[in-house]
Amino acid sequence: MTMIAGNLQDVRARIATACRRAGRNVDDVTLLAVSKTFGPDAVRAAAAAGQRAFGENYVQEGLDKIASLRGLGLEWHDIGPIQSNKTRAVAEHFDWVHTVDRLKIAERLSAQRPEALAPLQVCIQVNIDGGPAKSGVAPADALALARAVAALPRLKLRGLMTIPEPAPDFEAARAVHASARALFDHLNAEGLGLDTLSMGMSDDLEAAIAAGSTMVRIGTAIFGSRAPK
Ligand SMILES: *Cc1c(COP(=O)(O)O)cnc(C)c1O
Repeated sequence: MTMIAGNLQDVRARIATACRRAGRNVDDVTLLAVSKTFGPDAVRAAAAAGQRAFGENYVQEGLDKIASLRGLGLEWHDIGPIQSNKTRAVAEHFDWVHTVDRLKIAERLSAQRPEALAPLQVCIQVNIDGGPAKSGVAPADALALARAVAALPRLKLRGLMTIPEPAPDFEAARAVHASARALFDHLNAEGLGLDTLSMGMSDDLEAAIAAGSTMVRIGTAIFGSRAPK
């Protein structure tokens, strides 16, 4: 077994344990493997071990991997900040975008999504803990943005995404994730029909699942630590 296959097995076991402790069904949590900075061979190894969904932060790096791994039937998620001049490449090549935080970007993605492809699957990024320098819409503005994004023809609004600051312990992490879950539930109570809450990374996936995450984005625990950029 490759190191990556073994790591994937460990991560799946962590997810299963967290789901059991939370009284949740393991099928309700999707594993997104974050392959940023790792090459196509690493993705290939993970795919051979049954992993299908991959997350990338840098558009050009993602495009290179998507091109070289075409034919494997993988699903590609853009989880990095999006600039206006990159929306066309994202709309033409990715399956999902997790980081929509303003309407202008969503409008461009919708206009540029090719008709031949399924609608682009979208999450709205929420700055859930109010970090000053962070991307993400303020929680108070999430409902209005979600309604506007949901109305765009070539996007399918799936849910919310968060990247909270590292918390000192499990309970603190769970509390922040729980506030994201409360916002998600609020939007659904308003009729948005969301099914995806993208939160939890290598260090806090248990707390995220305890709070109701439906998609965890895991890099280090699968591929190893990244070289500093
Ligand atoms: C890098 C990254 C991850 C994965 O982080 P790990 O701690 O390596 O699991 C998840 N989400 C986003 C947005 C990232 O940039």
